[in-house]
Amino acid sequence: MFKSVREVQSAISSGSSVLEILEHYLTRIQNHQHLNAFLEVFEESARRDALRVQEKISKGTAGKLAGVVLGIKDNLCYQGHTVTASSQILENFTSLYTATSVQRLLAEDAIIIGRLNCDEFAMGSSNETSAYGPVLNYLNPDFVPGGSSGGSAVAVQAGLCTVALGSDTGGSVRQPASWTGTIGLKPTYGRISRYGLIAYASSFDQVGVFSSDLDDAWLLYSIMAGKDPLDATSSSQPVSQSTDIPTHLRFGIIKDYMELPGLDAEVKSAFNGAVQKLREKGHAIKEFNFPYLDFVVPVYYVLSTAEASSNLARFDGIHFGKRAENAEGIDETYVNSRTEGFGLEVKRRIVTGTFVLSNEQYEAYYAKGQKVRRLLYQATKDMFKEVDCILLPTTPSSAFKIGDVKDPIQMYLQDIFTVHANLTGNPAMNIPLSQSSNGMPFGIQLMTDHFEEALLFHASRTVNDARD
Ligand code: GLN
Repeated sequence: MFKSVREVQSAISSGSSVLEILEHYLTRIQNHQHLNAFLEVFEESARRDALRVQEKISKGTAGKLAGVVLGIKDNLCYQGHTVTASSQILENFTSLYTATSVQRLLAEDAIIIGRLNCDEFAMGSSNETSAYGPVLNYLNPDFVPGGSSGGSAVAVQAGLCTVALGSDTGGSVRQPASWTGTIGLKPTYGRISRYGLIAYASSFDQVGVFSSDLDDAWLLYSIMAGKDPLDATSSSQPVSQSTDIPTHLRFGIIKDYMELPGLDAEVKSAFNGAVQKLREKGHAIKEFNFPYLDFVVPVYYVLSTAEASSNLARFDGIHFGKRAENAEGIDETYVNSRTEGFGLEVKRRIVTGTFVLSNEQYEAYYAKGQKVRRLLYQATKDMFKEVDCILLPTTPSSAFKIGDVKDPIQMYLQDIFTVHANLTGNPAMNIPLSQSSNGMPFGIQLMTDHFEEALLFHASRTVNDARD
């Protein structure tokens, strides 16, 4: 089983063909269909690409990702291929262009093996809202893998592709990474182009990476990062490299987060153990008060649903995908297409978002939410004046069983540690930490100042090494 770019490329150097590597993954996908990670395998185009990349290898013109097999979340466009955001409303919709993130990986000769299941329109924390059924956790199929990028997480966890792309609006890369024991990176907002990523909440959305190896996450990140004229919110700041990084780091811990009543005892003790190891290695640990914990989840859900209600207005049965049959007139076509096409959770968010944006409620919810967001941004900036990296749990616990969390508020609280970085735009990542007594994994989350991804990776290596 190939678990990293290095393993794939060393197999190629020892004589394996790109097609053999691809076939290895195709067989594994075939043998793990019950996980429901892939919504579609792009067998034909992947085989064609494998031959093309092989030729480039023999000519010595192959890119950095030659032989690497990539899965993409079903909300990233890949020209000529279906993309549905795991929703019935986009059933049979074909991408008209390729997302910039995907395009940049293709340009380095990655092979795209298929599209990965996720929560419908990336709304969810367990991959149970997909119109195409839940994804099962590879370690134990009774458990969820987390969401919304559950298919991407499981594809990497189960070795069904070398690396995968997801998207992270409120934790959808880091949270499933925590629950599948994989690495999950959410870069700084604006660091990777959102062009071709189906929008959920545009001021939060970022493309992210899943891998089993830190070097791979960095490699994909550094290929995708950077200005894109097709996304006005992409940053033109140069992509940071690992220079001038001190040997001893200053880590910050948010006391209020660690005192959260819902934080599982095993997660807390593993987290504290990791902090202790860092202390012993001579890294500085500073504790912060951050009295905003009660606000992060409500503010995230006010603002993200507002943006979602606006973004999803385009799915009206006329422009895209599914159109209701037997509807009379334009109004009925809109209503019936949306009623039939969207699932329950998506409808709940559209209604909530429309409410918080309504004339009567706007000031009390949306405008207030924006003010709190600004406060969180400033308070976080202030912490980074004193530390290099903030450590926090990724998830309050390890994964739950499929069907166990029915209350939407309970589900939203799964994101309590991840939404912070989306509200403030900071880069953050999950690396595996430990496992609960039931054998299910969980991770630790690292967050750095804006555009400090090089430092984020350095800190991740430091935490990893201190643990061993
Ligand atoms: N679970 C969060 C939500 O449902 C985050 C989703 C995401 O990051 N796409 O909104």
